Amino acid sequence: MIFEEILNKVLKTNSLTENEILELLKTDKPQKLFAAADKVRKKNVGDEVHLRALIEFSNICKQNCLYCGLRRDNKKVDRYRLEPETIIDLAKKAKSYGYQTVVLQSGEDPYYTSDIMSQIISAIKKFDIAVTLSIGEKTFEEYKVYKDAGADRYLLRIETTDKDLYEKLDPQMSLENRKECIQNIKKLGYETGSGIIVGLPGQTLESIAKDILYLKSIPVDMAGIGPFILNPNTPLNDKVKSEKLKVELTANDQNNFELALKVMAILRLLMPDINIPATTAMETLNPDGRMIALQSGANVVMPNATEGEYRKLYELYPGKICVTDTPYKCRFCIESKINSIGRSISQGKGNSKSKEIL
Ligand code: SAM
Ligand code: SF4
Repeated sequence: MIFEEILNKVLKTNSLTENEILELLKTDKPQKLFAAADKVRKKNVGDEVHLRALIEFSNICKQNCLYCGLRRDNKKVDRYRLEPETIIDLAKKAKSYGYQTVVLQSGEDPYYTSDIMSQIISAIKKFDIAVTLSIGEKTFEEYKVYKDAGADRYLLRIETTDKDLYEKLDPQMSLENRKECIQNIKKLGYETGSGIIVGLPGQTLESIAKDILYLKSIPVDMAGIGPFILNPNTPLNDKVKSEKLKVELTANDQNNFELALKVMAILRLLMPDINIPATTAMETLNPDGRMIALQSGANVVMPNATEGEYRKLYELYPGKICVTDTPYKCRFCIESKINSIGRSISQGKGNSKSKEIL
């Protein structure tokens, strides 16, 4: 089938085969794909943009993902963890800036036991604000404790569904366990967020097409798609340079940016009413990255609400945006950018329309 036929099919049926997804990923007419996704976004989730205040509360991680600057073996990062009172205070400030959701994100840091997390979540819920967690792989019981404490949403990217690649890039982790965690999150009634990194060395377009179908099969309520950005303080740096890893997609920032937009747009066409963030990594690769993403299918932005030096220390990849800004500045800066493209900020909690729970 040719590009236009595939586009017409997905607009009518919200479904695509793996081969059809592959054709869309390969298209040299991405603007048509982005425009179609933008139309579907407008029709199904409207013009409002939901803001989520991102609190990066610890950069300590027991895992060792080869692509991530927070990995355990990276000695070139100063580690920090915020006290529960500080996290609660940041959430309170976020609410005062008009946020209706906080996203608590960290490395997999064992300091935050279920008890501690549950205290933090229940304290924050008193501010009448939705809580999203993005703190990695946990047991079913741990996910249940957080849910019982009031957590509304959980974000755990699958990263890639290519088993060999996953297990090469995430040593000591398994794709089966990652999938089971996502199932458990879904089972417990969280609004379930997942997603992938686009442009990982060794990743193929075929595997990305499978990733997209996986996200649809869950089905996720939120899909976060981030372009891969090479971190010089990770082992991937040497591997990419020495070409020991088979690099089918070049680790080229602008390729990764456009490909990530394509993945996001295809997900919008397949899942018209989910929430899709314009990710920070997109803006790192392109100064207008988040606004371009908002015009290619996205409807959510996650401005940084972490304070002071910690913004810089939470360094997954180089060139992270807004590291010297304050949460207050980011909140109002993003609002004016969003208004400048004719969109408005939602005043509600922004639950996924695919799962109206509150
Ligand atoms: N530790 C939790 C986890 O892994 O789910 C949450 C925090 S982790 C830093 C959040 C996301 O950062 C990961 O899911 C991964 O997709 C992304 N990430 C890490 N390193 C990256 C890189 N070099 N380029 C793009 N995204 C990256
Ligand atoms: Fe840790 Fe998450 Fe980074 Fe992996 S991606 S090293 S789990 S913070």
